[in-house]
Amino acid sequence: MTEIPSPIDQLLAGNKRYVEGKTTSSNKPGHRHELSEAHAPLAAILCCSDARVVPEIVFDQPLGSLFTCSVAGNIPTTEMIESLEYAVSFLNVPLLVVMGHSSCGAVTEALLSEYPSGLFSQIALPPDPNLQEAIIYNTKESLKTILDRSPLILDSIESGDLTVTSGVQDIASGKFTVLDCYQVHDQGK
Ligand SMILES: [Zn+2]
Repeated sequence: MTEIPSPIDQLLAGNKRYVEGKTTSSNKPGHRHELSEAHAPLAAILCCSDARVVPEIVFDQPLGSLFTCSVAGNIPTTEMIESLEYAVSFLNVPLLVVMGHSSCGAVTEALLSEYPSGLFSQIALPPDPNLQEAIIYNTKESLKTILDRSPLILDSIESGDLTVTSGVQDIASGKFTVLDCYQVHDQGK
């Protein structure tokens, strides 16, 4: 019997196809009719609004597969966390991904500003980082903030219904690299 790959393995397999220029995803008219009735996304994703970061393309997934929440700097604002909670509690997504990316303009702005204001003041920065370090740090901290602020998401992990992960997409190569992964009986690695 063929084992069904886990949601994260499905995303990573799609990302491999994208990197290699062998994408297979398509959006047929018949599929749209099915989606008009209901959808059961494979994952909920918090990502940056950057036009070079489009999860459906980067993970080679069709319409209806990814519940995507986009905000500059992939910052876990209250609205973003509540949207992710909707995906977990009403759509029963089995996977939540925080997705940072290389060359992030929002993280660059926060790094260069002595006193970042508004949304960018919420970007998490370590002491004296370079841009790549700051992008990785902000992505990992975004996931930790979601876990700190959402008992609902934490409960879903502990009940074994949800896996959460963070990772960074390298725009030039297209490759998505996992940073952290939390699931039941495996609190971080
Ligand atoms: Zn960005």
